[in-house]
Amino acid sequence: MSPTADRPSVDQTRPEPTFDLHPDPTFEPAPGQLFIGGTRRESGTGLRHDVVDPSTGRTVTTIAAANTDDVDAAVAAARTAFDTGTWATRPGRERSRILLDIARLIRERGAELAALESLDVGKPLLLARTIDVTATAEHFEYAAALAQGLDGTVCSTPLPVHAFTRREPLGVIAAITPFNFPLLLSATKIAPALAAGNAIVHKPAGDTSLSALLMAEILQEAGVPDGVLNVVTGSGAQLGDHLVSHPGVDKISFTGSAQVGAHIAHVAGAHLRPVTAELGGNCAHIVFADADLERAVQDITMGFLLNTGQFCMAGARLLVERAVHDEILQALERTVPTVPVGDPRDPATVVGPLAGADRRERVDRLVQETVRSGARVVTGAERLDLNGGFFYRPTVLAEVDCHAPAVREEVFGPVLTVQPFDGEEEAVARANGTAFGLAAGVQTSDLSRAHRLTSRLRAGTVWVNCWGLLDPAVPFGGVKHSGWGREGGTEVLDSCTTTKSVIMSLPGEAGR
Ligand code: NAD
Repeated sequence: MSPTADRPSVDQTRPEPTFDLHPDPTFEPAPGQLFIGGTRRESGTGLRHDVVDPSTGRTVTTIAAANTDDVDAAVAAARTAFDTGTWATRPGRERSRILLDIARLIRERGAELAALESLDVGKPLLLARTIDVTATAEHFEYAAALAQGLDGTVCSTPLPVHAFTRREPLGVIAAITPFNFPLLLSATKIAPALAAGNAIVHKPAGDTSLSALLMAEILQEAGVPDGVLNVVTGSGAQLGDHLVSHPGVDKISFTGSAQVGAHIAHVAGAHLRPVTAELGGNCAHIVFADADLERAVQDITMGFLLNTGQFCMAGARLLVERAVHDEILQALERTVPTVPVGDPRDPATVVGPLAGADRRERVDRLVQETVRSGARVVTGAERLDLNGGFFYRPTVLAEVDCHAPAVREEVFGPVLTVQPFDGEEEAVARANGTAFGLAAGVQTSDLSRAHRLTSRLRAGTVWVNCWGLLDPAVPFGGVKHSGWGREGGTEVLDSCTTTKSVIMSLPGEAGR
């Protein structure tokens, strides 16, 4: 996410969109097909499944449901593309030019991509355009720079040799992505993988695959050779093991839940196949009494409501120093119910529906279990009946026990738990007190304290006096059950390249 993007915020609930938002209520996407070897095709079984608009519960189109034969075909196409070197052996500068073209086409077709993303996930159109589309283009732009800098190093050794390293592509990468930011999270994998010269089989989430297919078309238009990117749509449970254990796959790059990540790691491990895992979180947002409280309330609110709380780095666990606990709670009680919830096509909407009926069921179950465990409902904690969509009222729960389900587990909905703390020790202990370690945040005006806490928080990313800002140039990933490996920054190259050492004997040198 670009820190400069024209993004929605709670204090700017009616932003003037600077783009054509494509808010056509009759927009219905074409049925989705698989994309294999540069060609659209039906699945081997001819099976399709429904694509439902989460804001109305209405089926808007259908998409091909791949089977294992389709996975074989996609891996074979990627394998051929990689092994024949149609992409991998091109100069980095040429790959870079194509990556920049992809970014340009993504911006040009931004309205279409945002409309698909909004319809598929139920996310506000303005959010889809300002964050998802913009950040997707930025990932390709950043990858274009990476493609030109795939340098090795010269190794200093007393041996009579010339020793150096080469950074080489891994081969065929299986990219498996989740439902919540389909386009953007595809880009975080596909863009650097392409920069390094790999071929890819992409399996997007079964219920939000439409933008992945349009992205494949865009890559083809920009000049990525056929077979370098292949997309198989369908059920992860049915296709996953086959793809992960496929002998033609060299690496798995997975973003999704800790539960599925553990399963994939287990299956891949049996085949000695490397896995990068970007997994879930339940991130602690810590507010000290010396913070700018007005600003903190803004960050807290967007930190748990962005994308209807369906984002891995949602600041869903608020920890507030006791001296200002009641004041913050009162501010949230006033602010949160005023955040506009509704039709994703309305530019005023900040919170859309959850992405599916089952996802809303799960959020409600975790909220009700947390309330039964003793939490007090400050606001929300109920479904919202609106146009047949899967809406849930933004929810704040206070007096929450640290063993409550909404604290221990990832809720993945518009839900905030609030707990008081006394002093830094307790703040750190509570923040680190779950199995997750994706991100954390600290609000304080004391810079020394900010430094002390950033070093003690067990999280892949720590925000200080802000929340959720990301950029392709900044590495992102988790520790503990939130995963391993990094996307973004130059570190991402570690997940899509391998280092080859070359040791050349020098003719005539002593010791030969
Ligand atoms: P999920 O784990 O249910 O599914 C993710 C992907 O895995 C989907 O494409 C799915 O079809 C596929 N899949 C399911 N079973 C599989 C199997 N057995 N083998 C192979 N693939 C399989 O996650 P979700 O519900 O789509 O997304 C939400 C989760 O993703 C949350 O936990 C969230 O925190 C996490 N997430 C993490 C990050 C990050 O960068 N760390 C970013 C976004 C989302």
